[in-house]
Amino acid sequence: MKIGVLALQGAFIEHAKRLQAVGAEPVLVRLPEQLDELDGLIIPGGESTTIGKLAASYGLIEPLRAFASTKPTWGTCAGMIFLAKDIGIDRQPILGLMDITVNRNAFGRQVDSFETNLTIAPLEGGPLHAVFIRAPVVTKAGDNVAILSALDDGRIVAVQQGHLLATAFHPELTDDTRLHQYFVQLISRKE
Ligand code: GLN
Repeated sequence: MKIGVLALQGAFIEHAKRLQAVGAEPVLVRLPEQLDELDGLIIPGGESTTIGKLAASYGLIEPLRAFASTKPTWGTCAGMIFLAKDIGIDRQPILGLMDITVNRNAFGRQVDSFETNLTIAPLEGGPLHAVFIRAPVVTKAGDNVAILSALDDGRIVAVQQGHLLATAFHPELTDDTRLHQYFVQLISRKE
């Protein structure tokens, strides 16, 4: 199974390593034509404004939107912002595919980075240790969006809309590969 990792900016190498660990073949994506051979795609964390700008200048916005409209795609952190329909501003390019409203940098300056254990609905084996770095949260989710995880205060940090997955934290920065496994299963079910 070939899974692309958008490799414009951010934590793409770490995602590629986790994909290898779960038996998938990672492909670092920088060109539109690379999408043709992929079964799924991860949009990594980083800086969503930079990822958006680079995607626009590499001619990737429309090809990415077309890909993610039908093929399993998972956005982590900045990738979650990139997939969302509504981020409250329209200055930065986004794909606008998931029926969610996302608040960027939702944790402010004091706790802009933190780690916590999260229960993630479809995962067996107990809570997942999650790393949040200047993370977004989902402030509104459509009826077609399943909420997979929320913080103790109720703020939503993992969602799924059919073949689209989004997490506010960085699952590629820990050794726990259960979410990467889950994404691989999502692709297998679709095929
Ligand atoms: N704050 C970043 C943004 O707005 C996201 C941070 C991250 O991906 N770790 O894009």
